[in-house]
Amino acid sequence: MLSQFWNIFFPLRCPVCGAATDNAPLCPGCQKLTVYNESAQLKIGYPYTGVFEYDERARKIIAEIKYRKNRELMPFIQRALLRHAPAARAEILIPVPLNPVRYKERGFNQTAELARDYAAYYGLQLRSDIVYRAKNTQKLAALSPDLRRAELDYVFKVWDNKQAELPDKKILIVDDIITTGQTVKTLAETLALYKPASIEILGVFRPRL
Ligand SMILES: [Zn+2]
Repeated sequence: MLSQFWNIFFPLRCPVCGAATDNAPLCPGCQKLTVYNESAQLKIGYPYTGVFEYDERARKIIAEIKYRKNRELMPFIQRALLRHAPAARAEILIPVPLNPVRYKERGFNQTAELARDYAAYYGLQLRSDIVYRAKNTQKLAALSPDLRRAELDYVFKVWDNKQAELPDKKILIVDDIITTGQTVKTLAETLALYKPASIEILGVFRPRL
């Protein structure tokens, strides 16, 4: 009741474009993610798919989620991912872990959240408890390729008491945005040390080159 009156005087605005929304977290126009399903451009040694184009609209949506902690925007991406991502063939889904400082600031790992419905639908175990970031990475975009490489080496570690779970498993690594592919490649290489049956990679968003 009160919220109805509130909405008459202060209609909800779409956080991406500013248009009035009909009580939805995003206006209908901004809910249309551009399906990309790109999987050929990066040579990272593992099969990958970037599901949605990381365009201007997607950038604003992700910024809302990450920096303004607007978790209301997540369900529609969760559903869209389920609809448009290739069918999963893995057993374990491992989201790229945040560094502990960022996790503490944000209170959630957006990648794990975005992949939740996808994992449930295909019967994958969503496992945020297998790998961790051993050190904080600097802003990678600012570094030269060599320094970036050095910075990413040894970033990911498998917890000692989880190492026995990885041999012969089919693993799907998920990241919210795949740009150079260096982060997911490094994580895949770390996991490969434990002899899983296969490793594939899914990026929710991927910039169009
Ligand atoms: Zn909008």
